[in-house]
Amino acid sequence: MILDERWERMSTEELRQLQIERLQSILNRAYRNVSFYKQLFDEHCINLETIKSLDAVKTLPFTTKEDLRKSYPYDMFAVPLRDIVRIHSTTGTTGQPIIVGYTRNDLRHWTQCTARMLAAAGVSEHDVVQIAYPYTLFTGGFGFHQGAELIGASVIPSSSTTSPEKQIDIMRDFKTTALLSTPSYALNLAAVLEEKKIHPETLQLKVGLFGAEPWTEALRGQIEEKLHISAIDNYGLTEIMGPGVAGECTEKNGLHVNEDHFIVEVIDPETGGVLPPGEKGELVFTTITKEGFPLIRYRTGDISAIIEGPCPCGRTFCRIRKVTGRSDTLIFFEGTSFFPSQIERILLEIEGTSPHYQILLERRLNIDTMEIRVEISSEIPSIDEMKTLEQLRNRILKRIKYDLNIEPKLTFVEPKSINPETGARAPRVVDHRK
Ligand code: ZN
Repeated sequence: MILDERWERMSTEELRQLQIERLQSILNRAYRNVSFYKQLFDEHCINLETIKSLDAVKTLPFTTKEDLRKSYPYDMFAVPLRDIVRIHSTTGTTGQPIIVGYTRNDLRHWTQCTARMLAAAGVSEHDVVQIAYPYTLFTGGFGFHQGAELIGASVIPSSSTTSPEKQIDIMRDFKTTALLSTPSYALNLAAVLEEKKIHPETLQLKVGLFGAEPWTEALRGQIEEKLHISAIDNYGLTEIMGPGVAGECTEKNGLHVNEDHFIVEVIDPETGGVLPPGEKGELVFTTITKEGFPLIRYRTGDISAIIEGPCPCGRTFCRIRKVTGRSDTLIFFEGTSFFPSQIERILLEIEGTSPHYQILLERRLNIDTMEIRVEISSEIPSIDEMKTLEQLRNRILKRIKYDLNIEPKLTFVEPKSINPETGARAPRVVDHRK
């Protein structure tokens, strides 16, 4: 179902005209209200009067994650705080978190965008939607929640803090038809189903919208098979808006970008040059309606490509390929899969360790083994404190088993042996299985 026929089926000509008008307005607002952009445009001798076509976008400088980190907390906001009605942030696991603010209009647009994604996946007012994303500073939970309510679905904010066992109970008893979570979390739920010997056909579940981490077609196959659902991909990032930037329709062949709110480009990550449709490169977004936190040519670090040609679903918004690459890569192990960043997240939550780790994978006699080496925090008095270390090891392994359903070997190594103060960091994943 197409939620916003008026926008999602606009003619290309009308859409380009709308984009250029909105672009001119956002550039002027960013220049006037964000000192970072005033300085950046002045430095690059950008005359905003000359930006009269979409082609001229490529003459504008990029905004990087580093720029946003330096602006912590509020320097990139384009309106006074009194006009901000919601604040979210990135996790900041790899540096200073990025704080984003939404005005009332921004929230309205965000709601509309996630509602479109849900409708495109086939969710309607007849559905019972279980949202197992965190309801925190992270944008996933709230972003989809408001869109699902707009559609008129019955929304269950089960959040990711509910245990997988409890999620399954809710799913069965509340007759959930649509699940929203990260793809890896969906796999955890599938594992619990298997454990409890609950056949997926006894549930009402029919569709899942998954995102917030890159996932493969193989993983989609697994989720669809284990949960007996159609698994739909969506893409978004906190800096740009959160979920709702792009999402698949039921064709499952590329993610439609909400082009009335964003201009998408794919660039060569080395040269910064714009690549033609079909070629793989780094996704770059310009927000053209954001009031609180406008971004001009933001480099996402995510690898994709623009798909040419119309989609059979009738939407005219362009499509991007499933995001396949990030600095992180998915690890398949013992029938499950996870991202190294998930190990990192666990370590960050447990005192006494550092987020510096290395995953070693080997295959002996057809059996895969995994060892995780973790740098001990320098706050732990001595690596010889056997009892403390044993307790720490058990805590970490329990969390890993609980979150990822794997049982690796865990070895502690001296502080700074993986991430030395000088010289290169050891590779995060060493896979000797191939
Ligand atoms: Zn489509």
